[in-house]
Amino acid sequence: MSYFSDLGLAEPLLRALEAKGYSDPTPIQTQAIPALLQGRDILGIAQTGTGKTAAFSLPSLHRLAANPKARNNAACRMLVLSPTRELAAQIAENMRGYAKYLNLSVQCVFGGVPVGKQARALVPGCDILVATPGRLLDLIDQRALTLRHVEIFVLDEADQMMDLGFIVPLKRVANLLPKDRQSLFFSATMPKAIADLGKQFISNPVRVEVTPQATTAERIEQWVTFINQSEKQALLTLRLKAGLADNSIDRALVFTRTKHGADRVVRHLATAGVNAAAIHGNKSQAQRTAALLGFRKGSIPVLVATDIAARGIDVSGVSHVFNFELPNVPEQYVHRIGRTARAGADGIALSFCAPDEKPYLRDIERLTGVKLDPMPLPENFQQEAARLPLPVRKPAEAEQDARREARDARGRGGPAARGQGGRGAGGGGRNNNQSRGGQGRDGRSRDAQARESYRGERPAAPQRGPVFNPLGNEGRGAVEATRPATARPAGDRPRGERPQGERSGGDRRPQGDRRPRGNGGGRPQQRGPAARAN
Ligand code: AMP
Repeated sequence: MSYFSDLGLAEPLLRALEAKGYSDPTPIQTQAIPALLQGRDILGIAQTGTGKTAAFSLPSLHRLAANPKARNNAACRMLVLSPTRELAAQIAENMRGYAKYLNLSVQCVFGGVPVGKQARALVPGCDILVATPGRLLDLIDQRALTLRHVEIFVLDEADQMMDLGFIVPLKRVANLLPKDRQSLFFSATMPKAIADLGKQFISNPVRVEVTPQATTAERIEQWVTFINQSEKQALLTLRLKAGLADNSIDRALVFTRTKHGADRVVRHLATAGVNAAAIHGNKSQAQRTAALLGFRKGSIPVLVATDIAARGIDVSGVSHVFNFELPNVPEQYVHRIGRTARAGADGIALSFCAPDEKPYLRDIERLTGVKLDPMPLPENFQQEAARLPLPVRKPAEAEQDARREARDARGRGGPAARGQGGRGAGGGGRNNNQSRGGQGRDGRSRDAQARESYRGERPAAPQRGPVFNPLGNEGRGAVEATRPATARPAGDRPRGERPQGERSGGDRRPQGDRRPRGNGGGRPQQRGPAARAN
């Protein structure tokens, strides 16, 4: 065990860490900080929640402060690229906290808000700039920013960058960075396509890895309830109402596959008296910020999110992650459940699996090497569900969601659009062939396209993680929902300089007994990890 004070960080940084209440470095910090202090490039394989922001921020701030320089107009000394606005804002906030006793300025730029104000803020230059790729290139194209003074470059969440279709912008950024710089490259997974991307940024890197590739966080209890799509809303509502009432749920993140699906879940929860907010790409930045703030402060206990919007949400105390729909790209599952059990806390992930989602479940279990424990429906589910003020979900609604998403995706283009909108919300009334893998324009299934865009190639099967099924096949079969689907309810240059060739333009019950409970969470009759632990 080492302490921050052993790692050679400057005193003002140690003071800032003390103010935050951090005494011991996390494993990625212990591994990365000494190498980064020496100026080495780094290839980091780590999920969010492992403390990687501090791992790259602390030694970088140390090095910038040790070598003070006057600021250059419209320039920065350190550039951090992040895939989403939320993550960018969060990194900037963390870095401001770590830099608070140093004379270093941090700016943050991302899309979805007017560019003019951000451009003006960059005029005097800054020490650290945290940016999303699209807005960064906009600012460069407007000649409001040059990358020629970058000394330290960080590419965070590289796999998500690829998923979002940022490959071309990243290659452009790579060409605009000075050759002489330190580069840090982080990704939660490292399939070949990401490793190849990394080679464009880093040279002779030190490799640090804190969790084996694509294995799920060990401290998360992972459950699955087999249920028809049309009954998922009732199940979610009952689980949330019960968990919030008996305080077994502190904060819950609910993942839906589509943006319209997220809005629908929020509306239905509101009707049942559960305060929830949605966060996804159709929301304005102000709405996203307000939702995140409410969730962080605790006034909104349930946040319903799509995969892309949720990436990087760092809110401590997320006790539960609900997968209202299973992701068609299994790596997304790892990222989703990584929102809970952050910084050493325990968490619970509960997935709702409709009959046509079973292939996705198999993919997830194969990738993670973990067999999800089946959680039966709550006692009296049918009666409790019938009492909820839920409209009968018409099969047509799911089709409608899927059509809207496809329309949005066509407007947006890019692999992420296919990945998120490819399959629609599922739906009790739809047959399996329809829902699994609609055809993309080039004839391949959309699932296949989403997967390819996500990972470039399939990562190696994970080495670790217990394969454990306490109930065996019999038990699993016994918890299948049997009610029919229809039943109720349910160019890097400053202004003026144009280089040639460049275009412008929880449940605090004891460990092992963490099932949502209460009504709707009526204690399951079957054996689960509770039995295992006892
Ligand atoms: P990250 O992986 O950077 O998103 O960090 C996850 C969470 O852990 C954030 O809330 C950090 O503020 C927190 N954190 C980072 N380093 C430490 C540490 N050494 N001790 C306790 N918490 C930490």
